[in-house]
Amino acid sequence: MPEQNETYQNLIISPEGGGRRGLLVILGGGESGVGAALLGKQQGYDVFLSDAGFINEKYKAELSEYHIEFEEGGHTADKIFTANEIVKSPGIPEKNEMMKAIRAKQIPVISEIELAYRFKGDAKIVAVTGSNGKSTTTSLIYHICQTAGLDCALVGNIGYSFAKQVAEQPKPLYVAEISSFQLDDIKDFRADVSLLLNITEDHLDRYDYKFENYINSKFRIILNATANDYFIYNADDEVITTKLQQTTLHTNLLPFSMKYEPANGGYIKGKNMTLRLNEERTSWSIYDFALKGKHNQYNTMAACIAGLVMGIRKEKIRDAVTDFQSLEHRMEKVATVRGIEFINDSKATNVNSTWYALESMEKPVVLILGGLDKGNDYSLIEELVKEKVKAIVSLGVDNSKIHKAFDGIVSPIIDTTSAKDAVNNAFHLAAKGDVVLLSPACASFDMFKNYEDRGKQFKEAVKNL
Ligand code: ADP
Repeated sequence: MPEQNETYQNLIISPEGGGRRGLLVILGGGESGVGAALLGKQQGYDVFLSDAGFINEKYKAELSEYHIEFEEGGHTADKIFTANEIVKSPGIPEKNEMMKAIRAKQIPVISEIELAYRFKGDAKIVAVTGSNGKSTTTSLIYHICQTAGLDCALVGNIGYSFAKQVAEQPKPLYVAEISSFQLDDIKDFRADVSLLLNITEDHLDRYDYKFENYINSKFRIILNATANDYFIYNADDEVITTKLQQTTLHTNLLPFSMKYEPANGGYIKGKNMTLRLNEERTSWSIYDFALKGKHNQYNTMAACIAGLVMGIRKEKIRDAVTDFQSLEHRMEKVATVRGIEFINDSKATNVNSTWYALESMEKPVVLILGGLDKGNDYSLIEELVKEKVKAIVSLGVDNSKIHKAFDGIVSPIIDTTSAKDAVNNAFHLAAKGDVVLLSPACASFDMFKNYEDRGKQFKEAVKNL
């Protein structure tokens, strides 16, 4: 895990006093909503934050400290409708009743990153989006910047609000992880360097079950990109390349690929990665990368191109990708017990992530799979399962889809009801030299608080073997 951003300084509230910019209503009191509230207050808005659920004590304390009015457990419509502008937290869907009413009244709605952008001054932004690999790649770029000695902050979906960072400790450079939900409500937001890692079906419940809508949302990362900006994208992703052909572009393209050799950008051929940027050309062995697996080779390549574009010295980039420590819950090596290796990939909450996890496996696998199914198509991993998986341990309330997909293909498939139960069963099924891989392809909410909780319980169970 990268180091947390330094401790925040005290917020300096605008001396002109509140309200001169009108009423800013924030919907949602999580990390991004509270961050937006703080920045709004600092910049001279009247701020009112409203959450239909309950707000974490830590956030309530922050709001109170800065005298920001808030409510929880419901929305006061009359007050909300008087807003000049609304910041919608990324977790709130359009089908939410309050959102429908706000849209009907045509009150302007923005996302937290739009508000942060408005007040970031001259600072530069590197923005990373995609269906998978965002946190890994954003953290790696941040690590590259830190290795190069740049004064920067890691913000966004990764857990630190962009708006709060701008309010409390502005930096000349922000490395931001951006979700499609944040992009849905941008207007002027523009990143100097944008990265699009991949697009696979995810979150379709938020996009009217239309993949096209989700693709459009991801492409908003370059909505305002100019001829001075750069767009680093995965040229092996057909969804991306097809959409690019239909898009009018005003920015510099830097594709990366394992299938061809772009004139500018990067590619991996055999065991080498080559980066090209104008006259610059560099080749490194992929064996030196700290992050392993094909998906991480893509992530590393994307991060290296971002580093080059920012003018960071090649040697520094290389040092950073060599000594980067992988994130918790993403292909995290937990322990080897009696010759059996345990890997925690709890963050794999869709089939695509599990595909990449399996793809990188070089030993026989006992796969812990399952959880809350978001409409998974397991046929995508069928070939890899046939080739590499000797047993499946299913870990979910309803495992019927896993049985339907893999009965007759893998034997045994054992149903379990807790992380401990799953680890014990997997341990007995595995032999020396095997890997027990938790890469569930599903959300965790049926049995766990979140994927972190699932990963932690898994690790705890491994420690207790
Ligand atoms: P995100 O922030 O987009 O959810 P993470 O970096 O947290 O992505 O990784 C989430 C999961 O996706 C992990 O299980 C990881 O192994 C897998 N993954 C990481 N990078 C990629 C990639 N480029 N393509 C597919 N899967 C990936």
